[in-house]
Amino acid sequence: MWCVNIGHGREEMAHAVADQIRRMPYYSAFGTLGSPPASELAARLAALAPGDLDTVFFTTGGSTANDSAIRFLHLYFNLLGKPHKKHIITRRDAYHGSTYLTASISGKKEDRSHFDFISDTVHHLSAPNPYRRPAGMSLEAFCDDKVAELEHKILKLGPDNVACFIAEPILAAGGVIVPPPGYQARTLEVCRKYDVVYLCDEVVTGFGRLGHIFASEPEFGIVPDILTCAKGLTSGYVPLGAVLLSRRLYERVCGAGAQAAMFTNGFTYSGHPVACAAALKNLDILEREDLCGHVRKVGPYFQQQLAELRDLPIVGDVRGHQLVACVECVADKETKAPMASEVQIGKRIDAECQARGLILRPLGHLCVLSPPLTISEAEIDRMVAIMREAIEAAAAGVRSEGLWSG
Ligand code: PLP
Repeated sequence: MWCVNIGHGREEMAHAVADQIRRMPYYSAFGTLGSPPASELAARLAALAPGDLDTVFFTTGGSTANDSAIRFLHLYFNLLGKPHKKHIITRRDAYHGSTYLTASISGKKEDRSHFDFISDTVHHLSAPNPYRRPAGMSLEAFCDDKVAELEHKILKLGPDNVACFIAEPILAAGGVIVPPPGYQARTLEVCRKYDVVYLCDEVVTGFGRLGHIFASEPEFGIVPDILTCAKGLTSGYVPLGAVLLSRRLYERVCGAGAQAAMFTNGFTYSGHPVACAAALKNLDILEREDLCGHVRKVGPYFQQQLAELRDLPIVGDVRGHQLVACVECVADKETKAPMASEVQIGKRIDAECQARGLILRPLGHLCVLSPPLTISEAEIDRMVAIMREAIEAAAAGVRSEGLWSG
């Protein structure tokens, strides 16, 4: 689940959590009091975040971070006298969470079969998936097309009606979709042109997975208006999420001279002292061991070695960035037709991997990999060797059962 960034078994984390429980197991973040770990963590995140993203609101995870961010925007535009500015633009294959609102703004087809969703204010653009771009189209033209699609949607809805564009810089659960170069910066530019808030979901990409605490600025050249994070914030040892709001936005409605509105959105466990103490220790470890630097070193090797799997007849695409990757299995490399879902190729490959000592995340015909940031080159070699054997074994299985003729 893209979260155990510092790896399992860190005694220091156990001590940090136990010490905090002994000192103060719980205090509410509501009202004017809080807890020292929450204040310290908020200040540290604000200092690490790009631009003026220095107002921090803690949540219990990624879904509640995205949900809270959008609830803040409801309050924001209502207070600014723009009650119609409520529409949200998102993308197919996005994943932003499992609350009613965040499931509605997610876009994975498989998750949308038997549920109800908010539909009147939520609009899905096509996924910026270079592998699935029309045949013969250059990456540049594909990028132009996706940026134009966003602009047309804003114009069609009317900029006065559009609150935000929400985007993971890399669409993780949708299949590690890495948009074409320049896409993030150009979509931000479009948002700025029409006063549409850019909400960057760094729940997966934050805390080292792409080689930086926050990837927005160093990797994609963007300083969003709102940034959400979770997962690697505590490396999954305990649950925590956060919304980082731009001072510009916050001060317009909550700062001195504004209406000093209360953002009456929160959770019993917002800013939980134990979770914040874990996040502080997690940051200590990330920084002390320079795990971001390590990712920038081994990430390209990981991608290169995995890319070698492209020669396998069942593998249509291998993609990713730094320490997140996806192997996409297809029935036909020419047409890129995915393996039929009944074949459950991802699950078969995962079973073969597990028998050999590797756990991956199967998502239909996709195999997702998100190793701890501590991984070494030797471990990467072992991982890729297991993947190769497992894919070959699974492919032989489906061929012998007559489910695939490749
Ligand atoms: N945003 C992204 C990009 C995610 O990948 C996830 C979870 O996988 C979420 C939000 C939701 O986070 P959580 O499961 O902590 O609520």
